[in-house]
Amino acid sequence: MRPFFFVFLIFGSQFLLAQDTSLVAQKKILQLMGSRFELTAVATTKQEAWDAINAGIKEIERIELLISSWDENSQTSEINRKAGISSVPVDKELYDLIYRTKKVSQLTEGAFDISFASMDRIWKFDGSMKQMPDGEIIKKAKAKINWQDIILDSEKQTVFLKNKGMRIGFGAIGKGYAANRAKELMRNRKGVKGGVVNASGDLITWGVSNKEEGWVVSITNPKDKEVALGWLQINGLSVVTSGDYERFVEFAGKRYAHIIDPRTGYPTTGIKSVTLICPDAELADALATAVFVLGKEKGLALVNQLKQTDCLIVTDEDEILPSNNLQLNYF
Ligand code: AMP
Ligand code: MG
Repeated sequence: MRPFFFVFLIFGSQFLLAQDTSLVAQKKILQLMGSRFELTAVATTKQEAWDAINAGIKEIERIELLISSWDENSQTSEINRKAGISSVPVDKELYDLIYRTKKVSQLTEGAFDISFASMDRIWKFDGSMKQMPDGEIIKKAKAKINWQDIILDSEKQTVFLKNKGMRIGFGAIGKGYAANRAKELMRNRKGVKGGVVNASGDLITWGVSNKEEGWVVSITNPKDKEVALGWLQINGLSVVTSGDYERFVEFAGKRYAHIIDPRTGYPTTGIKSVTLICPDAELADALATAVFVLGKEKGLALVNQLKQTDCLIVTDEDEILPSNNLQLNYF
């Protein structure tokens, strides 16, 4: 939930009368991967739209089983159990996902790191934590974070976490990956002309929309969510926001977000939210988290050097910082 944020799709399904009046749009809202998902398909017939939506839902459920680190039976849990002990053979899909996460770690100089998860049992953002964790404990757990200690063997298709106590988790990329995959499946179904997969505001669009202006999201002012700042054209793009206002802790008046800075082992401070816009939902998801960790200067510098990638950062002081090429349209 993002109570006072910020990005929402302007159109609801009730308005989804496709431009081409022979097209129909259908939408399903449901809980998947612990989040509220909305899957919308614009297709030639109602039946085709529903076939696509159902295929998308199955795909997201399948991915959840593969990447969940809470489900003991997932391959991800097996990798974590065997940390410091042995390598684990995994499906090509999981192998490739981990390979890509390491590429993002490299690109972001370790700001994005799925081995942050050794911190999962130390920092809790569900309100149960009453005092700051002990500095020594944080130091010990931090020593286990290092994406370069996630050892991949491409021939054997195995994953090995080098040190005991290391863990990986896909919290910062899983929804984006699932949205990408569901979109691909839906897009290739017969009769489907366009749609959106929206995971609690993290979304990807493709093809035709219902309106002349295409797929559009509204950006509201973080200081006053009743006030729209403007809108973004997002045809064929993904929009992902990091910064979850219900998941944080506060000690001595200081607010700590639920994203861990792998360099310190402490949660990040300074940024309220990062919205990342690029064609790929998985990358958007990973980069939004990375910019959070990097902070405003380094985060903007990174985004400004990437093609077809933009962002909007809101700091704790409510500064609103767009990347150089962000095409925000004003009402
Ligand atoms: P997001 O909302 O996409 O920014 O993801 C936040 C989630 O990513 C957290 O709840 C953690 O599960 C995970 N996470 C926290 N810190 C990091 C990090 N530095 N790199 C990768 N994943 C992280
Ligand atoms: Mg993310």
